Amino acid sequence: MRLRSKDPNYSGNFMSSKPHLLEQFLEVDVPVVVVGTYHTNDPPCVTQSLTRQFCRTLGDSPHNQRVTSRRLSSNVGRAFTQGRPPMPIFYADWAEVILPNGHRFPMDKYRATRELLQDDRSLTGMVEFIRSPLAFTEDITRVHDEDYVSRDASELAGWATGGTLAATYAVLQDPDISVAAQVAGGTHHAFAGHGEGFCVFNDIAVAIKSAISTLGEEAVCPVLVIDLDVHQGNGTAKIFEDDPRIVTFSMHGANNYPWKTRMKSTYDIELDDKTDDARYNQVLAEWLPHLFEVHEPRLVFYQAGVDALHEDSFGRLGMTRDGLMRRNEMVYSECIKRQLPLVITMGGGYSRPMDASVAAHADVFRCAAIQYASNDAIE
Ligand SMILES: [Zn+2]
Repeated sequence: MRLRSKDPNYSGNFMSSKPHLLEQFLEVDVPVVVVGTYHTNDPPCVTQSLTRQFCRTLGDSPHNQRVTSRRLSSNVGRAFTQGRPPMPIFYADWAEVILPNGHRFPMDKYRATRELLQDDRSLTGMVEFIRSPLAFTEDITRVHDEDYVSRDASELAGWATGGTLAATYAVLQDPDISVAAQVAGGTHHAFAGHGEGFCVFNDIAVAIKSAISTLGEEAVCPVLVIDLDVHQGNGTAKIFEDDPRIVTFSMHGANNYPWKTRMKSTYDIELDDKTDDARYNQVLAEWLPHLFEVHEPRLVFYQAGVDALHEDSFGRLGMTRDGLMRRNEMVYSECIKRQLPLVITMGGGYSRPMDASVAAHADVFRCAAIQYASNDAIE
């Protein structure tokens, strides 16, 4: 959504669908032209929600605005109309949070991962990069307490959650899309009423609750969350602790954070320090088929953190990039074999320098694109 003001102080395009930002423009009584731009073949819920919010915000304003909206077909739209669509990869790296100097969180990794993928010519035609829509408060508050949401000012959290929501609706509503991803998100330490461990909103939980509410339990559940970040998915575990429709599987380092706030997932698999590729993938190979056979999920989320990498500064495991790629392949194979919709989110990765983590993050998305594309070719 593009908000273009005639006021010279607001020259250029202003990308936002965030109500309070739109309202700020309207409250100063600046004449504005609002051009609603959306992809004609975006998942219907994304388009409908954007349009709904857009109209609601403007409709509430006492000021006069000249409003035009138009549909623009885009590369995304065209791609969706030509046979099997490429894998949608949502991203939100323009909405960086400015952190104090020396902060331990590698904020640049989102952009670096996306650029690595965009520069990879072997993926041409297999992937489509889409700016994440902003998550709506009504979706976020399906999981998070209202006073917590209103206190939080993180732009990135709203966009990152919006991308996971959009990816979820893409795989659930478009029968030609089997997998979609978000180059952010997987913020699994976020609880209903507070954030923890670099996580503000629990994007996966928000997407699950939104999808159930919008599409109905029958179309969505059971849901399997495969959380392979090296830290336990404690927020997700807590949010769904009393909901048997959501199966949370967390495989993580036994000695890693969280310590005091560790919760009970449906399955918690704890690994020793320095666990290597062979051991890690052996354990995963034993669990994965079991999870699918016992729970028969209709929708799968993959929190694909790469902090099990031996170069990671927080994780305590000893995996290599090759081992993580094998891990990714195992998850994708199980979903492809059963033709289950899959949403991939990013999760943690904290090598210093960040190159090793960024390469492993990019592998997560590259492996999915190639594996799903080659599977389409076999079909
Ligand atoms: Zn982590």
